[in-house]
Amino acid sequence: MRIIVVGAGIGGATLALALERAGLDYVVLEQAPALTEVGAGIQLSPNGVRVLDWLGLADDLAEFCVEPGAHQFKEWDSGENVLSTPLMPMARDRFGAPYYHAHRADLIAALAGRLNPARLRLGAEVVAVGQDGAGVTAELAAGGRERGDVLIGADGIHSLVRNRVFNPGRPRPSGYLAWRGVVPADAAADLDIGRYSFVVMGPRLSAVFYYISGGRLINWIAIGPAEDEKRESWSQTADGAELRAAFEGWYPQPRGLVELTEDVFVTALHDRDPLPNWVDGRIAVMGDAAHAMLPYHAQGAVQGIEDAWVLARTLQLHGDDDPAAALRRYEALRKHRAQRLQQHSRNAERWYHLDDADEVAHRDARFRRHAEDNPDGFTKQQVWLYAYDAEQAALGTDDDWRALPDW
Ligand SMILES: Cc1cc2nc3c(=O)[nH]c(=O)nc-3n(C[C@H](O)[C@H](O)[C@H](O)COP(=O)(O)OP(=O)(O)OC[C@H]3O[C@@H](n4cnc5c(N)ncnc54)[C@H](O)[C@@H]3O)c2cc1C
Repeated sequence: MRIIVVGAGIGGATLALALERAGLDYVVLEQAPALTEVGAGIQLSPNGVRVLDWLGLADDLAEFCVEPGAHQFKEWDSGENVLSTPLMPMARDRFGAPYYHAHRADLIAALAGRLNPARLRLGAEVVAVGQDGAGVTAELAAGGRERGDVLIGADGIHSLVRNRVFNPGRPRPSGYLAWRGVVPADAAADLDIGRYSFVVMGPRLSAVFYYISGGRLINWIAIGPAEDEKRESWSQTADGAELRAAFEGWYPQPRGLVELTEDVFVTALHDRDPLPNWVDGRIAVMGDAAHAMLPYHAQGAVQGIEDAWVLARTLQLHGDDDPAAALRRYEALRKHRAQRLQQHSRNAERWYHLDDADEVAHRDARFRRHAEDNPDGFTKQQVWLYAYDAEQAALGTDDDWRALPDW
């Protein structure tokens, strides 16, 4: 069985490593001439880190990641904690893997460094895909084609595979923009920022910030309603002065980070509606191509990592007899969880940007109740997210996780 993977982002690259580990025959077609990522941070929860550990990345991650002590949800003006949920070392103890913060470029470099170069075709843009009784075909912009038995679209939110095979259409603009920046930790020393994952919800503006790159940099993201149309691309620079004005009245640390940032970038946030089918015959989608979601639960890439493991193992265990049936099994194992997260991430948007004083008080009271209801510190949502074991899911032995209350 030969597998064609379209796209080598975090999802496709993880799939390639999982297919290599499974001893399967595959090729990865990536349009970019080199594997790179934008200079932003990414949060990797234990459910994803566990898979990366299995793929041999544990030492790399330990070197460039930062392990935060807790998630701290804070009042935007006073900086007072509304909720703190422990992460280090509790996440390791309870879920068998740490919660990490990473620089995206470090993560993609670690994945790329482990890819089998003989299986990776860079500068290989796929312009058409198809299938017939004998197999699948990917046609390349540069001419020529690849033939195989199974084709996986890991080609991101604008996925050609999704659009051609499943559901033509564009990503849905959320009506919100995300600004981001990176500040050298030395330059921010006076702000005395602890090694936590900070989430701050202000009126119509939220912010997240944390250390990356072994603690040398601090990454921040701010999200607020879009006053104008912007593209979904991190290469657009933003007016830093305007953003600094929006942080007027905020407590010193997030405000100070924005003030210290030389280059502020902005992108419009998009997601996709849940896709009814992820599989058509011998063709399937995964990662953002299957379930692009808003970033409020920091799960987009991590869900792609989970997909990659389950898909590779399902093809390994069942693919030789009937590849299409193996893909259907992958879809059945993965769709419910990823689509719940698409929906939860959409719901979170409103919660993160409330402006009305009564609604804010109600939200914050709910956050405070989390702490009282969960004496070991983890919320029900965190347990549902972090306890997921992709290997047990692939084997169908994840009864403990399935018994958790659905979230
Ligand atoms: C502000 C923000 C913050 C986020 N924070 C987090 C977080 O903390 N944690 C988390 O888990 N997720 C987070 N995410 C989500 C995460 O970034 C994405 O879910 C993830 O990067 C998607 O990976 P992917 O491999 O599926 O797609 P992509 O990264 O888009 O990769 C797709 C690849 O396919 C290639 N490709 C596309 N079309 C073709 C073609 N026709 N032929 C060949 N190659 C092609 C592309 O070049 C690319 O390399 C965040 C997102 C945003 C916007």
